[in-house]
Amino acid sequence: MDYQKIIDDLHLKYKNAVNKGKIATYIPELKKVPADKFGINLFTLQNQSFGAGDYQEKLSIQSISKVYALTLALKEIGEKLWKRVGVEPSGDPFNSLVQLEFEKGIPRNPFINAGALVVCDILISNLKSPKVEFLNFVRKLTNSKDIYFNEKVVASEKKYGFVNAAHVNLMKAFKNIKNDIDVVLDLYYHICSIEMTCEELSRSFLIFTNDGILPYNKERIISLSVSKRINASMQLCGLYDEAGQFAFKVGLPGKSGVGGGIVAIHPDLYCITTWSPKLNKKGNSYIGFKVLEEFTTITQSSIF
Ligand code: GLU
Repeated sequence: MDYQKIIDDLHLKYKNAVNKGKIATYIPELKKVPADKFGINLFTLQNQSFGAGDYQEKLSIQSISKVYALTLALKEIGEKLWKRVGVEPSGDPFNSLVQLEFEKGIPRNPFINAGALVVCDILISNLKSPKVEFLNFVRKLTNSKDIYFNEKVVASEKKYGFVNAAHVNLMKAFKNIKNDIDVVLDLYYHICSIEMTCEELSRSFLIFTNDGILPYNKERIISLSVSKRINASMQLCGLYDEAGQFAFKVGLPGKSGVGGGIVAIHPDLYCITTWSPKLNKKGNSYIGFKVLEEFTTITQSSIF
């Protein structure tokens, strides 16, 4: 398979395609990102990297970080986590408060904001220095020290994070948040503010391609069972309330973020990451979604 040619062709085709998406404006700092950024990277289990466009530029990974948070929390407390967070698709926008009241403060899944906030609460209860340890964990998965929080993005989210604050308060009232509300929000905004390149994202997600083992040093990070479950959660809940369309059209577990990144995992062969900041109505990258759909069609690598 000539992955480089496939990626180059897709990059050329979609660079000039009509982009009906809109950049996320509710986090003012994200508005500053040039809307025409566009990168694709594919990283294989054989340690080969294929990239096109802006694939070595840093992007705000936003909700993609929720996968790292879940992985670290499962490492810390294991199955107990599922008593406080569900595993069902929400069918509602990622920041919807509606279900949370009906379901008594137990978020539907770890990838909606409420779920990620509970996961952050778990990390705070179990780690000595949550921010430092979280960053080190992401660096380890990526095999790179060059990964940082963006404090400007943190400040921007804090300033306008009224809905996230509402989520934590509601869950605190239902006793599903144990720590101080501001501490939980602070960790949450930090993990969302991490900046990585498409290539770094693909590389760091390879443990989910490789049954929980880091390919570069063969260290087991999570069990096979946990790796499968995280892939299953991504498949069912990783693309907001468009996860069904993503399963239909792309056919891989994946996770998106409002920074315009999407990571998709083939649980045997590769990770592929796209970045294009303009989002469709569901909050997923408009062009990224199309590129991934065409990529799995050409390579016949949907898992279904
Ligand atoms: N930090 C963003 C928020 O809390 C993450 C949203 C996302 O990427 O889905 O709204």
